[in-house]
Amino acid sequence: MENRKRTVILGAGESGTGSAILAKQQDFDVFVSDSGRINPKYKEMLDEHQVLYEGNGHTERMILNADEIIKSPGIPESAPIMKSIRKRGIHVISEIEFAGRYTGAKKICVTGSNGKTTTTSLIHHMLRKAGLNIGIAGNVGKSFALQVAQDEYDYYVLELSSFQLDGMYDFKADIAILLNITADHMDRYDYNMQNYVDSKFRITQNLTEEDYFVFCSDDEITIKELEKIVSRAVQLPYAYDKKEDDVAWVDDAQKMHIEFEDVDFSMSVHELALKGRHNTYNSMAAGIAGNVLKIRNDVIREALMDFQGIEHRLERLNKVHGINFINDSKATNVNSTWYALESIKGEIIWIAGGVDKGNNYSELNELVNQKVKALICLGKDNERLKEAFSDKVETIVESSTMAEAVKSAYYLASKEDTVLLSPACASFDLFDSYEDRGRKFKAAVREL
Ligand code: ADP
Repeated sequence: MENRKRTVILGAGESGTGSAILAKQQDFDVFVSDSGRINPKYKEMLDEHQVLYEGNGHTERMILNADEIIKSPGIPESAPIMKSIRKRGIHVISEIEFAGRYTGAKKICVTGSNGKTTTTSLIHHMLRKAGLNIGIAGNVGKSFALQVAQDEYDYYVLELSSFQLDGMYDFKADIAILLNITADHMDRYDYNMQNYVDSKFRITQNLTEEDYFVFCSDDEITIKELEKIVSRAVQLPYAYDKKEDDVAWVDDAQKMHIEFEDVDFSMSVHELALKGRHNTYNSMAAGIAGNVLKIRNDVIREALMDFQGIEHRLERLNKVHGINFINDSKATNVNSTWYALESIKGEIIWIAGGVDKGNNYSELNELVNQKVKALICLGKDNERLKEAFSDKVETIVESSTMAEAVKSAYYLASKEDTVLLSPACASFDLFDSYEDRGRKFKAAVREL
């Protein structure tokens, strides 16, 4: 008993509960501690596996005697318990680092500021279609640790946020994909962009010459950082317009190409299931990963063509009297809204607003000038949004409920126009989450 390693898990959510079950299975002395209320579903799972836990607070003496701590990505370094843990010098890791020790599966890992869930899901769809025994985890679906404990997958595709990467040291990807880097979560990185960039680049750590690093060479921050670091992995950059080393690109006839080693793949951008320039990037990244894994060209093509997309990301709803409705509630920053506006043809009635994280709206000026005929502000405080666009959009309307916003948009739209919910802001002022906001949008459209 005394010889067993003590593993303490902070946070009893999806990743914490999964880690606890895996740690128990590996015969560690396990304790789970959560500062808040533990969801009954997770309590039940912990009870079933006879894991000890506490909710509504941390008992320091039960935590500071740990040999190792697995921390939920949601807990910031500034939390008092983290300060005590750091003072003691206890090793702190993420669920992904922990679970990675107990699987020999090949791991395809996806990070970036935007597009992670989309690209991760697209790769999962493609590899399943190819008949591989593959699990999906990280920020999506069931916890990675739980799947390692209970399922026997040969492959995993993992969506990794910067917070997960922060707790990763020895973990190694087989294919590492970095989609893009734009400022986000600065509050967790001391408002220092380099700290955030360093965190994203942890996806390349431990890669060997047998592994692959897939990245977007149109992303300036990625390219600048790459000048500084040495990676032994095979580099597979992609871009819209082909530069020397790019292995995937789009030509003038809107054909997407992937060419490296003995790979020679091409298809029309118009055939891709996911529309918009940003999604072409995501499709290129997924297509490269598929080719690295030697998936047949026809399977890759079919997967890129019939992927269903995911809820709240440029999700097209049924037309109402010839008016298009798009739910892009997941666009919680300016960059993702830029891509939404860019991807739409014709005139737009744009529903935006919510909790502004210090947005720089000027990046949207050109697209708004060209395409937006009315702006519906949907937030508790719309001043910054109104200020940014009052001289650029003819009609600006304020609303305080989704039903009101959708009705106003419908009233202002003509046939063939698009009503776009792409808030560029977090949702917590009027909604529980971006999912709640997106669902309310869809319900309001159905009511029209
Ligand atoms: P993440 O998981 O990184 O938050 P999602 O796939 O959930 O990303 O997409 C979030 C938002 O970003 C959506 O509004 C989506 O349309 C947009 N988006 C998707 N891919 C990209 C990309 N490659 N670059 C910029 N924005 C993107």
